Amino acid sequence: MSTAKRRDALVAALPADADAVLITKLINVRYLTGFTGSNGAVLVPRDGDAVLATDGRYREQAAEEAPDLELHITRSLATDLVKLAGSRGVRHVAIERQHVTLSAYDALVQAAGGLAFIDAGDSVETLRTRKDDEEVAALRTACAITDHAFATVLQRLSAGVTERDVAWALLSAMRDGGAEGAAFDSIVAFGPNSAIPHHQPTDRPLEPGDLVKLDFGAQVSGYHADMTRTVVLGTAADWQRELHAQVAEIQQRCRAATVVGATPVDLDQLAQRLVADTGHALVHGLGHGVGLEIHEQPFLVPGSSAATLDDRIPVTVEPGIYLPGKGGVRIEDTVLVGAEGTEALTSSPRELVEI
Ligand code: ZN
Ligand code: ZN
Repeated sequence: MSTAKRRDALVAALPADADAVLITKLINVRYLTGFTGSNGAVLVPRDGDAVLATDGRYREQAAEEAPDLELHITRSLATDLVKLAGSRGVRHVAIERQHVTLSAYDALVQAAGGLAFIDAGDSVETLRTRKDDEEVAALRTACAITDHAFATVLQRLSAGVTERDVAWALLSAMRDGGAEGAAFDSIVAFGPNSAIPHHQPTDRPLEPGDLVKLDFGAQVSGYHADMTRTVVLGTAADWQRELHAQVAEIQQRCRAATVVGATPVDLDQLAQRLVADTGHALVHGLGHGVGLEIHEQPFLVPGSSAATLDDRIPVTVEPGIYLPGKGGVRIEDTVLVGAEGTEALTSSPRELVEI
């Protein structure tokens, strides 16, 4: 879908009294314009042409990435766009209330003249949940690179390598595979550290019998892959084998339930119940959407108000069981909910690998 179509879809979703919408969250500006610089805002009027504002550093880049937009070079992005809107007869501007700081809002009010602000809510985030062909292609590539990096790095796991070594090896394998970088700082956790859901890699060396939890992903064209696998160095102990089998079965059942029409809060509840049946508790949500952000709507978490899943929505399915001081297992895939069924975009082996 062209960015122009995205802007049309946004305008169609606005409150009826909005004559224009001002988007200041940078990732939403990228989604609506194609502009990837670090400073930008866009004004999308209900009728007429959209205006992209950025500063002088990005004049050429903005013209190249968003050739169909009117460009406004300034250091006061949002306030200038509001003044421009007023001069073009706009009376009500929708803004992203949850992304505007109090000081930014004060400046907007000062610039407003007779113009009034209304809440655009999370209309861009909602629009971003369903991916178009280009976005699906980028995610597919990012996930394939992630799978490939996992296979490469498994061969480098041996006694003595540190968590930091493995984090670097993952990054290097993803870049060799064509990623523009990592989707987020890789989580590499050995032995008891695997019981910490979001452990940061340390200099701890790998020891025989350790669980090895790897949570990582590649980034391609701004789109984020996300996968977790847990393996064992050497022969697995009975408790490790049992724990892994439990999580693998829960993950499989949750993936099977992640289909068009399923409700995110119900999917999370299913995961909570299945983990509780093993005598443990799920200490985080079941998953989240992925796209231009690593964590985005819809959120599969307790209390989620996200709408039922539709086709073309990628989400993660990532149950885990963690035994503090001992070890933990998480298995996570990025899956694409589709009209023809749900497809796992990451597909590395989910059975217990003993290295
Ligand atoms: Zn992850
Ligand atoms: Zn995740």
